[in-house]
Amino acid sequence: MADKTLKYWGWGYAEDGLSAADTKSLLATFADGFGINPSRDRAFPTMDAITLPTPKVEAPANLAKISTTDKHDRVVHSFGQSQPDSLRIYNSDFDHVVDVVAYPESNEDIAAIYDWAGDANAAVIPFGGGSSVVGGVTSDVGSKYNGTISVDMTRMNKVLEVDAVSRAARIQGGARGPELEAQLKPHGLTLRHFPQSFEHSTFGGWIATRSGGHFATLYTHIDDLVESTTTVTPVGDIVSRRLPGSGAGPSPDRFIAMGSEGSLGIITEGWARLQGRPTFKATAGFRFADFFDAARAVRAVSQAGLYPANVRIVDGTELKVNGAGDGSFTLMVVSFESADHPVEPWMARAEECCLDAGGVVDVDWRDNPQAHLQGAVGAWRTAFIRMPYNREQLTPRGIISDTFETATTWDAFETFYHAIKDATQTAIRDVTGHDGAVSCRFSHAYPDGPAPYFAFHAPGNADGKAMLEQWQEIKTRCSDALIANGGTITHHHAVGRDHQKWYEQQRPALFGDILSDAKKRLDPKGVLNPGVIVG
Ligand SMILES: Cc1cc2nc3c(=O)[nH]c(=O)nc-3n(C[C@H](O)[C@H](O)[C@H](O)COP(=O)(O)OP(=O)(O)OC[C@H]3O[C@@H](n4cnc5c(N)ncnc54)[C@H](O)[C@@H]3O)c2cc1C
Repeated sequence: MADKTLKYWGWGYAEDGLSAADTKSLLATFADGFGINPSRDRAFPTMDAITLPTPKVEAPANLAKISTTDKHDRVVHSFGQSQPDSLRIYNSDFDHVVDVVAYPESNEDIAAIYDWAGDANAAVIPFGGGSSVVGGVTSDVGSKYNGTISVDMTRMNKVLEVDAVSRAARIQGGARGPELEAQLKPHGLTLRHFPQSFEHSTFGGWIATRSGGHFATLYTHIDDLVESTTTVTPVGDIVSRRLPGSGAGPSPDRFIAMGSEGSLGIITEGWARLQGRPTFKATAGFRFADFFDAARAVRAVSQAGLYPANVRIVDGTELKVNGAGDGSFTLMVVSFESADHPVEPWMARAEECCLDAGGVVDVDWRDNPQAHLQGAVGAWRTAFIRMPYNREQLTPRGIISDTFETATTWDAFETFYHAIKDATQTAIRDVTGHDGAVSCRFSHAYPDGPAPYFAFHAPGNADGKAMLEQWQEIKTRCSDALIANGGTITHHHAVGRDHQKWYEQQRPALFGDILSDAKKRLDPKGVLNPGVIVG
């Protein structure tokens, strides 16, 4: 991994991305299916064409060997993977890039970075994989600071201990998904937390953002898998006790580490609950003529106590946008897996729920270990793997492409869905003069409600700056609608800079005051990720 270069203009390594044929087919789907055509055909600026401001702060001697002002490093660490960040790079907006990137190797290094930042009045932005889609690592911290230091955690990437008896491991915060799974594999164990960004996101980043994994029920968020955490703050370390459960007051993990998004401290390690590697697996696919019938099937399965690994519905538009359907049906994917027992009885019951709600079989699960690769299920899976690479093709061609995700209770779902979809559709029409494409899937499902995940695409202005304004207007109206209709501003993408305004509306005001007080106590000089979580 060390030999590979991360892209600054998109997802993953420089050598990875869509093939020319995939790009052609993506653009054809947008044009033929939705009338969304490129408004330009340009490229991201090359590294040679990028000019950065001179660094405003300099690492002290004790941190010089773990710090760099390398141009590529500074650019990569100044942006996440959001639509506005993609546009800022396209627009060559490098005014706010980080000044120095530091790669700590120990908690002591982090303490020394805090001392330096406090003395220099520099902002500190913790950086895991940089996969934030909500501006969590975007280095625009305002004029109050003399500079910005990105703290890249990826040198702290080890599994330090495995307790095979309790099935838990002590994992450093900077371990990326593949690194930590590779270290757990010899023990026959897995963390079994697979966000779509798994390859380029870290254990500490997951905890800091309360990420949601691929598994759609039961252990959905990393929260469910964390036993204890170590958070290094500017005034000392917070190390919680390792326990399978505890009723002793508010949880330090939940109060300080989980969801802190780099604003209260840096999570350097944690104990996580592990599971056996699954050997029994089954997948089925069902088609529904009506989206709400499919939603009813998800509710029935979720409330039956079956806890499938996957219970996802994908509407016709989303399938069509991704070349996995013609728009005429909603797909429901159901999977079960276990390291311990055959899963057929559970699948049989889930199938009954789907057929009762009006589903017809797309892919049969019986004696079919390849079911996940077949039919619309397989086509959707292929598209899902390719999806992270789409934006780097769409932004320079002037096509707006973004997603947002939320949650609501089942009793409110249908009204909520219509309100959000209408608000998004209307915003797109008002802003672009085009219908665009608005789609919905469920990323996760609970007995009391689903987590709907919306995507929208529209032709943007040929001018990149105007396109950024168009995105902002659409995003604002979608976010207003989420809050006005009782949803959450995010189910798992986190708050970052982009959702802060709506997070402040969502959380109780007094709770916001308490968070602010906690921040003042833990980060008295206010250097940690300014503008995130605590405004
Ligand atoms: C293609 C793609 C797919 C995605 N799929 C999912 C998904 O399935 N589920 C999901 O939940 N999210 C998803 N995301 C969003 C993102 O991957 C998650 O928010 C992820 O948890 C971020 O981890 P990271 O290590 O990349 O953190 P970063 O992006 O580097 O940082 C995110 C935030 O956490 C802070 N932070 C990072 N590390 C630490 C640390 N050690 N201590 C304290 N603060 C820290 C940062 O300051 C920042 O505020 C996706 C993103 C992309 C680009």
